[in-house]
Amino acid sequence: MTATTSEHLAGPSSSGAPALAEIREREAAALLPTYRRQPVAFVAGAGARLEDTAGRIYLDFLSGLSVTALGHARPEVAAAIAEQAARLVHTSNLFYTVPQIELAERLRALLGWPDGKAFLCNSGAEANEAALKLARRHGKRQHTDKVNVVALEGSFHGRTLGTLPVTGNPAKHAPFEPLGDWVTHVAHDDPDALAAAVDERTCAVVVEVVQGEGGCRPVSDELLLAARSACTRAGALLIVDEVQTGLGRLGSWFGWQSTALAGDADTQPDVVCLAKALGNGLPIGAIVARGQAAKAFGPGDHATTFGGGPVVSAAALAVLETLEREGLVARAAAAGEELSAALKALVASAPLAASVRGRGLLQALVLDAPVAAEVVARALDHGLIVNDVAPDAVRLAPPLIITDAELDEAVRRLGAALADVDAGGSA
Ligand SMILES: *Cc1c(COP(=O)(O)O)cnc(C)c1O
Repeated sequence: MTATTSEHLAGPSSSGAPALAEIREREAAALLPTYRRQPVAFVAGAGARLEDTAGRIYLDFLSGLSVTALGHARPEVAAAIAEQAARLVHTSNLFYTVPQIELAERLRALLGWPDGKAFLCNSGAEANEAALKLARRHGKRQHTDKVNVVALEGSFHGRTLGTLPVTGNPAKHAPFEPLGDWVTHVAHDDPDALAAAVDERTCAVVVEVVQGEGGCRPVSDELLLAARSACTRAGALLIVDEVQTGLGRLGSWFGWQSTALAGDADTQPDVVCLAKALGNGLPIGAIVARGQAAKAFGPGDHATTFGGGPVVSAAALAVLETLEREGLVARAAAAGEELSAALKALVASAPLAASVRGRGLLQALVLDAPVAAEVVARALDHGLIVNDVAPDAVRLAPPLIITDAELDEAVRRLGAALADVDAGGSA
């Protein structure tokens, strides 16, 4: 029942790592208690597998929160990091460095935006911060109070003081209020409410095409098109937060390309935000803006010391190259079909499993009781890493390199976890 294999994964051996009890005690004493962590410490990874301090091997169906899309210890990325690190790590953005230019060119080409221009930063929240500041700049060029934002309930856009108000989760706002009154939230499935919320003071509408942290909840084409036409009407920017959905996870390079926003230049977003999978684990974020949006920032309007540094840019280039060379975007689409079929079979046969939602390799098994945390804990016992994205929903976001055999094995382990919880095994 417990996840074990005899062999160690490539990378540093677990031998010599302190025991979990000691790790937990030292963490509690040394780090601010912002995280609720699972009782496990990982020391090595390879592909879709992780090894803990006790030498147990797990199937990783979370990918570090949709980050390690190429799997762990990816040789192409490791080589790109090592080569660039041996040559030049940092100069600041007071100077030109070539990898960040190459990365911006690649992103522009992947988006099919000949006039697209990027800003590179260090995380998803920073990407959204950049997009929000860009939208204000764009708005204020029209009139001085065009500064407001419309976003969706249940959305997640970050935890900084600029992105937290846009994140549509009141429980996360409460401890930090006041956050200002520049954001209006509307229901994620109410196109009319969204259209009504956008007015001449709106500088941007921010959406995800599948709400990741909000529970793998797809946003409808009707809502996305309502957002697009409201933005066009009001002279506001449509910002699509692809921090989690971008770079193949939904089975298209960018999530919006598998929605009604795909199509001609009139329907596409003005700005996309990227981060999670872009560095396969290295901290990097990016926005790409097109059209008028690409003209809103001038020198001095925004900056970051580390953003677009040579090492993370080289890593991201290796990520994009590998995704492309191995056809992993198409693979994610096929694997997503496989995953959703396997999860639907679980719904038909296993206790507690009620329905499946999401798209591509970002899916949730919805439960008929708020026991997702127990299911996640039991899944860990069975050697499967997933997370409780809502009290009644378990998220599966495997790496894009996942095999059919690994998908089947993961769903089998998830079924075993459901059976444990159903049998009262959560004690
Ligand atoms: C994770 C996430 C963010 C925040 O990214 P960080 O790197 O944690 O700041 C923003 N938007 C979406 C859609 C995300 O999934």
